[in-house]
Amino acid sequence: MKKWYKPEICLAIFLQILLFLLFSPEILCSAEPVQKGNDVMLEKIVRTEEEWKKILTPEQFYILREKGTERAFSGKYWDNHEKGIYVCAGCGLELFSSETKFDSGTGWPSFWAPLKDENVETREDQSFWMTRTEAICRRCEGHLGHVFEDGPPPTGLRYCLNSAALEFKKTEE
Ligand SMILES: [Zn+2]
Repeated sequence: MKKWYKPEICLAIFLQILLFLLFSPEILCSAEPVQKGNDVMLEKIVRTEEEWKKILTPEQFYILREKGTERAFSGKYWDNHEKGIYVCAGCGLELFSSETKFDSGTGWPSFWAPLKDENVETREDQSFWMTRTEAICRRCEGHLGHVFEDGPPPTGLRYCLNSAALEFKKTEE
């Protein structure tokens, strides 16, 4: 039993306990629940207005950075029925799938759900004397369009988006 009191063994036990505490996330994060799909997991892309102007076309800049809206039936995707993924025109983040796209008759590409909830943020928009819900790319905070509650099942939502805020990536068959 005397061996237990050797200083090197005591030190080893102490170090093991220390390592356990350091590398045990449950203990470190016990104060807050582990959040999924938050800003920590998705690193933001922040650029100045000038930088965005160099990357985007004038139309993309107007929609994404100035919260503009393209004319109905003028965009390239409202009548697109091909299978694929719609990514953010500003940063390439995957936002919507052809699987949830539907013909809304509005002249804007419309979806009843995002590809991943955590990639599309919604915010209250009070512009033009209306209260609407704005849809934003979570990574670059680009304006995509608005969300309305008159969509089809199963969500009843209608993500009414601007074609210019999106880039379509066709699924290889
Ligand atoms: Zn983006």
